[in-house]
Amino acid sequence: AALETINQLEPQLKSFLTVTTEQAMAQAKQVDAQLAAGEEIGLLAGIPIGIKDNLCTKGIRTTCGSQILNNFLPPYESTVTTKLAAAGAVMVGKTNLDEFAMGSSTENSAYQVTANPWDTARVPGGSSGGSAAAVAADECVVALGSDTGGSIRQPASFCGVVGLKPTYGLVSRYGLVAYASSLDQIGPFGRTVEDAALLLQAIAGYDPQDSTSLDVEIPDYTQALVPDLKGKRVGVIKETFGEGLDKVVAEAVEKAIEQLKELGAEIQEISCPRFRYGLPTYYVIAPSEASANLARYDGVKYGYRAEDAESLMSMYTQTRAQGFGTEVKRRIMIGTYALSSGYYDAYYLKAQKVRTLIKQDFEAAFESVDVLVSPTSPTTSFKAGEKTADPISMYLSDLMTIPVNLAGLPGLSLPCGFDAQGLPIGLQIIGNILREDQVLQTAYAYE
Ligand code: GLN
Repeated sequence: AALETINQLEPQLKSFLTVTTEQAMAQAKQVDAQLAAGEEIGLLAGIPIGIKDNLCTKGIRTTCGSQILNNFLPPYESTVTTKLAAAGAVMVGKTNLDEFAMGSSTENSAYQVTANPWDTARVPGGSSGGSAAAVAADECVVALGSDTGGSIRQPASFCGVVGLKPTYGLVSRYGLVAYASSLDQIGPFGRTVEDAALLLQAIAGYDPQDSTSLDVEIPDYTQALVPDLKGKRVGVIKETFGEGLDKVVAEAVEKAIEQLKELGAEIQEISCPRFRYGLPTYYVIAPSEASANLARYDGVKYGYRAEDAESLMSMYTQTRAQGFGTEVKRRIMIGTYALSSGYYDAYYLKAQKVRTLIKQDFEAAFESVDVLVSPTSPTTSFKAGEKTADPISMYLSDLMTIPVNLAGLPGLSLPCGFDAQGLPIGLQIIGNILREDQVLQTAYAYE
């Protein structure tokens, strides 16, 4: 059924870069055989899933939305997709994304622009826009994305689905193509909180192949799915309700907070005064890390290679000039500049210090509340092309999600209403380190 929906909708939606029909049918048949033989089946047996195309899948094209990986067939499998296969999930394809996960609209993909299923003239958000659109349009039941500054939560918000960025280190990133390594995290999309919780269950856990992986006990997340918020202390981040927030988004989120109160939550206003420095801090740290991570694409080991180069040096430069898109080049240049001697202290080191201050704001907040809430994004989905000429206005899309990555915290977006055009609005719920249970419980009770 998922493959049929994909066939029907893809000409318009363009959520997938690769559809893995044969493989999916073979995986589904395997589950059938297990059932017929009376064997035990996995947690996600037979569930169609979309995988963001920056996760390595052995022998299956993995492009990262970039020309530079146009012909890349990974020789190995990411830990998350290995775990999903073991849980019986059926991968139906690789989803579209902004090139190297840099963007907020999926328009930076070198291949295609994904449409928002609610209004195909609009963007699905980004960078995991393909995954969010695919789940929203029933092309798969759940999907994986990655979130460095909001790339799961903002598209979830724009497409009216649930998206969760777990605590930094909870999910192994072995086989995730790196963008900004101190921020990247893989997480689930689902149409319901329960679906997202089940997918998290299948992918969370320690992995010796990722040096940032946390060696912690993984709880049963479904235990957190109780529809009761009695005594739950919910903090509303004051600073997220200021300038730049659409009125209709503010109203929907305020209404959602009222509902949390009716469900028994104790609502408090919380100030995170350094929250507003999140965006500029991110746009120093993330490009710096990206400039180092993307140095490996040189045309030698794998990926695209410029053909007519006359020397090794010109092969490097032409490969990168031809293989990378505008936004990726912009970030490599910003990052290289910020890390260069003479500027390192003024930009990179300063940004790291501000990052610590932002983290301290959250630490102080979590002394008096269990979860924090805010809008996910200041606006609903915008029209394709509307912001492509103005990177700063595009960057503002992640104003409220970025601080969560800087602090390594879990954050979830779930639908909380619609604007006048019928476009979905997202509520962001943020938890303390490894308190995915609190986040899921709050979301589940509201939902
Ligand atoms: N939209 C942000 C950016 O452009 C965040 C991307 C992400 O989380 N991968 O960098």
